[in-house]
Amino acid sequence: MSSKKILVAGGGGFIGGHLVAHLKEQGHDVRSVDIKPFDQWYQVLDGVDNVVADLKDRKNCQDACDGVGDVYNLAADMGGMGFIENNKALCMLSVLINTHLLQAAQEQKCDRFFYASSACVYNADKQVSEDVVPLKEEDAYPAMPEDGYGWEKLFSERMCRHFREDYGLYTRVARFHNVYGPLGTWDGGREKAPAAMCRKVIAAKANGETEMEIWGDGHQTRSFMYIDDCIKGIRMIMDSDILEPINLGSDELITINGLAEMVQVIAGIKLKHNHNLSAPKGVNGRNSDNTLIDKYLGWAPGIKLREGMELTYKWIEEEYNKKHAAATA
Ligand code: NAD
Repeated sequence: MSSKKILVAGGGGFIGGHLVAHLKEQGHDVRSVDIKPFDQWYQVLDGVDNVVADLKDRKNCQDACDGVGDVYNLAADMGGMGFIENNKALCMLSVLINTHLLQAAQEQKCDRFFYASSACVYNADKQVSEDVVPLKEEDAYPAMPEDGYGWEKLFSERMCRHFREDYGLYTRVARFHNVYGPLGTWDGGREKAPAAMCRKVIAAKANGETEMEIWGDGHQTRSFMYIDDCIKGIRMIMDSDILEPINLGSDELITINGLAEMVQVIAGIKLKHNHNLSAPKGVNGRNSDNTLIDKYLGWAPGIKLREGMELTYKWIEEEYNKKHAAATA
């Protein structure tokens, strides 16, 4: 472990913000960089070198990597299915962030580089059935990832690999499967399913509604990883000898209808599901095969979905109430 400054790219975002908080708590000297203005960061922590900059720009990446040992790249233009299916070009432009960060890290001889990839790199043919076979790392090839966002992730994974092979830069890559938890996006169009479910149920409860909208028929299956498990996994993967991209996700499978029902139980209400079959719904089924991460790191998710969703629901309910109190003041 380097004693130099640690860079978290995308530190104003959900996972980046939690990583910054964790590194700071461990006593590290952290620089957190994000394109958003500070009032939109989920966490702006004292004692951290917080910087607003566009990391698509190469010079900004050089400045961000100045004096840095470890780089964690969690910056990307991303969101849930509704966002990535309708913003493919924007998602692909994140390639500039990883490319310029890799170049800057190599030029400035940074010690280590972590890249946040995604389960969206996996071949769509392996995800046609709700009755899923969990995705193994080798299932990314032959390549047929999620259009736009997934292609960018797959390309950037390979850039990390070639910077390691050709220039000797220490790179590590994790493929996240649906991360959720407090202090992340819960409205505005970029939110993912767990946060969207919480918001819809909270709104229905507040407004006395009896129905909620579900995208697709709700039979789609997914797994969701709580943020604390994700942060622990990121640190373990960065410290590991694992050269190839590795899954970092939960293998607790649930249908989207099941997730909605879980949130209703947490909220103490029962709602009729109104299925919107023309809304973006992603692949039919996706789960993480955790054989490799268990074998190499002994990592397994420690927080069950129900427990994590209760914590997430509570935070989103507070945010929802704050926002609506401000709107009616
Ligand atoms: P997020 O949107 O909350 O965080 C990403 C941050 O990157 C945002 O704060 C955004 O402002 C910042 N950013 C975007 N463009 C930038 C730029 N040009 N310069 C500087 N900052 C920029 O998303 P997140 O959930 O925290 O995701 C973090 C990483 O993990 C992303 O790479 C994402 O693709 C990946 N990932 C997340 C999930 C998930 O379920 N959350 C799943 C798979 C992969």
